[in-house]
Amino acid sequence: MDTLRIDGRVVLVTGAAAGIGHEIARACAAEGAVVHLADVADTVHEAAAGMTGLRAAVAHVCDVTDPEAVRRLVDDVIAASGRLDVAYLNAGVNGVPSPLQPGGAIDDLPFADWRRVLDVNLDGLFHCLQRCAGVMKAQRSGSIVVTASTAGLRAEPRVSYPYVVSKAAVLGLVRQAALELARFGVRVNALAPGPVVTGIGGPGPRPAAAVAAWEDSVPMRRWGTPADLTGLALLLASDASGWMTGGTYVADGGATALTQVLS
Ligand code: NAD
Repeated sequence: MDTLRIDGRVVLVTGAAAGIGHEIARACAAEGAVVHLADVADTVHEAAAGMTGLRAAVAHVCDVTDPEAVRRLVDDVIAASGRLDVAYLNAGVNGVPSPLQPGGAIDDLPFADWRRVLDVNLDGLFHCLQRCAGVMKAQRSGSIVVTASTAGLRAEPRVSYPYVVSKAAVLGLVRQAALELARFGVRVNALAPGPVVTGIGGPGPRPAAAVAAWEDSVPMRRWGTPADLTGLALLLASDASGWMTGGTYVADGGATALTQVLS
């Protein structure tokens, strides 16, 4: 189906050195897109190098919390490729204890932890959205896909305050930007994953009881993988979703359909 194709489109992915962003970048490159990978980690160069042989994959080291660096990033994409068709605004962090862990309860949480997560997940997104929206408005076309989280849709006992709050706020930003940008032919949607095996998520070094608790919250009884998200990510980038904007699209193995944990 031609409307699902993104070959030749110019795509920017933030947080592309690892995890979900890396897999989305790889999927776009495999579909023949020109992909710009941005990350604060300089391993983004290796990530992009692994994608050569396809149309083009360009690495950019960029900290999304720095508005000037984000301005340079988007300028560099335009200088290299002439336009920007798709922006996956995906960079994110957590690393703060949940309310059930020491240092994570509301009366214990250090303000620095709160700020660090909001700086990346919300302010960093704002900087990227501003610059990408500016370019796409002038072009009168584009698709922006923000990686939100099911943690932004409901309270999550095993996820930190600033992460849950940042991801809830992201959904408001997506809706408001979709409202403004619709008349310029620019769409803005949120992709909301459940628990996915990456640097942020996954069983990792967690105690067995915590791993089991996560799996009891997912009807499909497994963590997602970054590859579980690429179909939805490509759909939201492509013309097949041409009448979809301001939405939040969940991929979570059924977790948000549940009202109580499985046993
Ligand atoms: P990850 O840690 O594997 O990847 C995140 C990437 O973002 C890393 O490469 C990191 O270097 C980069 N990054 C962090 N701070 C940055 C900054 N200031 N500037 C630029 N890049 C920065 O984790 P992931 O799970 O792939 O996370 C990607 C997105 O998915 C995040 O927004 C995260 O909140 C979201 N998400 C993850 C899960 C999950 O369970 N893994 C679930 C829902 C949503």
